[in-house]
Amino acid sequence: MAEQDRLESAAEPFLPFALPDIDDAEIDAVVACLRSGWVTTGPVTRQFEHDFAAYLGQPDLQAISVNSATAGLHLALEGLGIGPGDEVIVPTMTFTATAEVVRYLGAQPVLVDVDPGHMNIDLAAVEAAITPRTRAIMPVHYAGLACDMDALLALARRHGLRVVEDAAHAFPTRYKGQMVGTLGSDATVFSFYANKTMTTGEGGMVVTRDPELARRVRLMRIHGISQDAFNRYVSRTPAWFYEVVAAGFKYNLTDIASAIGIQQLRKIDRFARRREQLAQRYDAGLAGLPLQLPARAGAASTHAWHLYVVRLAPQAPLGRDALIQALSERGIGTSVHFIPLHRHPYWRDSGSLAPAQFPVAEACFERMLTLPLYTRMTDADQDRVIRALHELLA
Ligand SMILES: *Cc1c(COP(=O)(O)O)cnc(C)c1O
Repeated sequence: MAEQDRLESAAEPFLPFALPDIDDAEIDAVVACLRSGWVTTGPVTRQFEHDFAAYLGQPDLQAISVNSATAGLHLALEGLGIGPGDEVIVPTMTFTATAEVVRYLGAQPVLVDVDPGHMNIDLAAVEAAITPRTRAIMPVHYAGLACDMDALLALARRHGLRVVEDAAHAFPTRYKGQMVGTLGSDATVFSFYANKTMTTGEGGMVVTRDPELARRVRLMRIHGISQDAFNRYVSRTPAWFYEVVAAGFKYNLTDIASAIGIQQLRKIDRFARRREQLAQRYDAGLAGLPLQLPARAGAASTHAWHLYVVRLAPQAPLGRDALIQALSERGIGTSVHFIPLHRHPYWRDSGSLAPAQFPVAEACFERMLTLPLYTRMTDADQDRVIRALHELLA
């Protein structure tokens, strides 16, 4: 059904599963950027990178903006020298971007199963998948809850592997008191896609402490040109000269997008509090239903609640697909995160993968759905979802 039909046919307004939280602050910032005459990467983007690094609160950290998290993951792996013949371990319970960037470089993603509790990458499965060709691990902080990074980093160190964190869901997330982005991996990549915890429309950020990697990411972000457009713009000396030192990419973030990002970042603590509140209201409102509720963060850790994912218990009176349909008929949008990668034709066929290799992801996938959770959602909106689930499942 088209969105418009859905809006009109529902007795109450349609509740999407996600919605960006944008107001006059972002609109005014974009207008100011447009009026300034400088719309591509420039001073506003520099400011956004500075503000983002400052938010993570570690002086030696570099934040490098890109036009998507996908681009950031690609650049991080490229900068670490991943190439043909290499293997990179990726959880099957993720978006295709995590694995596709490995293919961009001619390397092979090796999919592994996830943990049945939090649905993050299963470290025993990682260990079992390591071969002499393995070069890196890409953990995904699923739904906004950090992986067990102490154990993962120790495992990587033992085997001499690089770690690039896909933190598309995990801003801001704390792991044992430390922000994701500062945990000591080679690089962490955040997403500012429209449905993430903060947005720039499209955008992403690579965060690293490694100055060599940072230099390479900056270089490859903009055509492999040794001196970026910003330097030429601010330079007082004649600045027509530049050198191409590598076959780079076109992955820079615009000042228009960064203007949105600066404003979103100023609200991120409020956004995070509201998400936590909504998650707690779901936990309370859904208790007693035949649902497995999401895993919670441990002591001194926090959950970003990008996604609130429930799993139907075996005794539930209807299946996942029927529940999604029934909720949709009540004007409630849901989604599924994710159709595991090994189920998609490309990954299944190119990796000769069978569902039996991923029993946990298979079992989770059959029973999972993502409920609406976004900062502009009111308590009354959420009560509609809770009431509908009681009607359908009690
Ligand atoms: C959204 C997402 C990405 C890609 O982010 P973009 O900014 O859209 O490129 C990567 N990994 C995961 C797990 C995601 O959910």
